[in-house]
Amino acid sequence: MTQDFRSGFAALVGRPNVGKSTLLNALVGEKLSIVTPRPQTTRHRIVGIANLPAAQIAFVDTPGLHNHAGRALNRAMNRTAATALEDADLVVLVVEALKWTADDDLVLARIVKSSRPAIVAVNKVDQARPRDRLLPYIADLAKRHEFLAIVPVSALKSHNIEDLKQTIARELPQAPAMFLDGERTDRSIEFRIAEQIREKLILELNQEVPYGIAVEVERMAEEDGQLAVDAAIWVDREGQKPIVIGAKGERLKRVGTSARLALNETLGRRLHLTLWVKVRENWADNARALRQLGLE
Ligand code: GDP
Ligand code: MG
Repeated sequence: MTQDFRSGFAALVGRPNVGKSTLLNALVGEKLSIVTPRPQTTRHRIVGIANLPAAQIAFVDTPGLHNHAGRALNRAMNRTAATALEDADLVVLVVEALKWTADDDLVLARIVKSSRPAIVAVNKVDQARPRDRLLPYIADLAKRHEFLAIVPVSALKSHNIEDLKQTIARELPQAPAMFLDGERTDRSIEFRIAEQIREKLILELNQEVPYGIAVEVERMAEEDGQLAVDAAIWVDREGQKPIVIGAKGERLKRVGTSARLALNETLGRRLHLTLWVKVRENWADNARALRQLGLE
C-alpha cells in the first residue's frame, strides 16, 4: 500500500483573476485563500493540503503572474509565483475558459522554462459561452504545450473538482505524506485573520482601494472567553487614511463587522476585533517593509 502512496506540491499558477484562489479553496474544501473580483488580491504563497486515500496533495496558491511589474510589491509578487512554480512537483496552469491573453503566454513561457510537468485547469466553464467553443478551445490548448492533462472545471460551482484532484494525484511522485493528518495549511491563525480583514477591505473599498494597503495582526489574546485581536491596516500615504476610515468611521466599522462575522465562522469561535489605520510611507516600494509584512 505505502509504496503506491503519492505526495507532492502542486502549484496553481496563472495570470491574475483566473480563479486560482477560489480553486485552492474548492480543492481543499476550506476557505484558506482570500478571493475578490479584483486582480492581484493574492500576495503570498499559500499552501493548502488535501488528503486522499492514496495521496496527499499540497496545493500552492500563488499571486498572478503578469507583465506590468512596476513597483517593488508587484515584483515581489511575481517572484513569489515564479519560485513556487519552480519548486513544484507538478504545475497546474489555471486559465479562464475560452480566453488566452499575453499574460497567459507569459505564464506558459515560465512553465516551459521550468521544465516542470504541467496540467491545465480550464476554469470558469460555468460562464463559458457559447459552450460549443469549449472543445476547440481545449484542442488549441493541447497544441500549445505537452500538457499531461487538460481538465475543465468550475471552482465557483465546485464542478469537476474531484476529477481534477484525482488527475493531479496521479501525476505526483511516489512519496510518503509530508504533512500530518488534519493539517490544512502552512499559514498561521494571525495570517488568516489578517487576510480575511484585507478581503473585506478590498470588497468595501471597491474602486477606491489603495494599491498600498496591508494588514498585520499586532496582538492576539484570550479575554473573557473571547479571542481579542488588534490589527493594523497599513496605508502608504497619510491621505489614504480618511478613505479607509470613511465618514464618521462608518467604513472601517463595516469592514470590522464583516471580517468579524467571517472569522467567527472560520475559527468557530467568537472574536473581539479592533482595527487601527496606520501610515507607513511608501511601504509598497520599501524592501524592509515588504519583509516585515512577509512579502519577500
Ligand atoms: P485569482 O486572482 O486567480 O486568485 O482569482 P480569484 O480566485 O480571486 O477569483 C477572481 C474572480 O473570479 C472572483 O470574482 C471569483 O469569484 C471569480 N471566479 C473564480 N472561479 C470562478 C468560476 O469557476 N466561475 C466563475 N463564474 N467565476 C469564478
Ligand atoms: Mg488569488
